[in-house]
Amino acid sequence: MNWLTKAIKFGEKIKKVLRKRPSKEDIANSDWTSCCKGPILKKDLENNLWVCNLCGKHHRISCRQRFDIIFGKNSYQILESPIPTEDPLNWVDTKSYKERLKIAREKTNQNCAVMIAKGKINGIEVTAGAINFDFIGGSVGALANMTRTTLAINELKNNNLPYIVCFTDPTAGGITASFAMLGDIHFSEPGANIIFAGRRVIESTVKEELPSDFQTAEFVEKHGFVDRVVQRKDIQDEVGKLLSILLRKNSDIHLENLDETSETNIQTREAS
Ligand SMILES: [Zn+2]
Repeated sequence: MNWLTKAIKFGEKIKKVLRKRPSKEDIANSDWTSCCKGPILKKDLENNLWVCNLCGKHHRISCRQRFDIIFGKNSYQILESPIPTEDPLNWVDTKSYKERLKIAREKTNQNCAVMIAKGKINGIEVTAGAINFDFIGGSVGALANMTRTTLAINELKNNNLPYIVCFTDPTAGGITASFAMLGDIHFSEPGANIIFAGRRVIESTVKEELPSDFQTAEFVEKHGFVDRVVQRKDIQDEVGKLLSILLRKNSDIHLENLDETSETNIQTREAS
C-alpha cells in the first residue's frame, strides 16, 4: 500500500466519524446535553432549574420554563397576543422570512419570540413577558418592535406601575436598544451577555482591546447598568420583595409606620 492509498483510506475514516456527529435535531431530541464536564442529563439539569451545579452556568430556557420558575408550574395564564402581518416586505435572504417563521414555530411551539403570562408573585398580580432565543434568536419582530414596546412601558410609568427587567443570556441588539433598558430595576442572571454592539465592532471603533469579561452581567453590574446579579433560584423571591416595597403590598416592612415616622420627623423639624 503506497502513501496515497493510505491517505485516501484515512480520509474515508475521518468522513465516517464526521457523518456520525449528531445533528442539532439529534441533540434537541436527546436526553443529554453538554456543559463544563461533558455530557449531562437534561433531567438533572431541569431539577436544578437548568443551572449546572458544577460551574453555575445558567442554561437558556424557554418562555414556559421561565414562567414555571417565576410563577410556579400550572400557576399562570398565558395571554394570547395579536398576530401581526407576517411578512409585509416579502423578505428573502438565504431563506424566506416566511420559511424562517414556519421553522421557528415548529421548533418552539410559539407564534413569535415573545410570550406574555399573568400570575402571582408573593400574592401580587404580575404580568410578565419572556423571550425565547430559539425563535430566530429572540428576534424583535413586528409584534414586539422597539417603538411599540417603548410606548407600552411609558403606559406603565403613566399609571405608576413598576417595571422590572431581568436580563438573561443573551440580551442584545434591538432588545437592549429599547424595552430592556427602560426598567425601574434591572436584574440579571449570572454570566448573561448584555450587549448592544458586538465586541469586534466596538474594538474596531474605539481602537482598544476590551477586557475579557466585557459585556457580562458582572461587568455591567460594576458599571451601573445592572442593579443586581441574581441566581435563577432567587429571582422569584427578589421580584416579590421588590414589588411588596414598591406597591406597598404584602410586605414584612411596615411602610405605613415608616411614613408616619417620617412625617412626625418632618413636623418636628418644622416646629423647631
Ligand atoms: Zn457546567
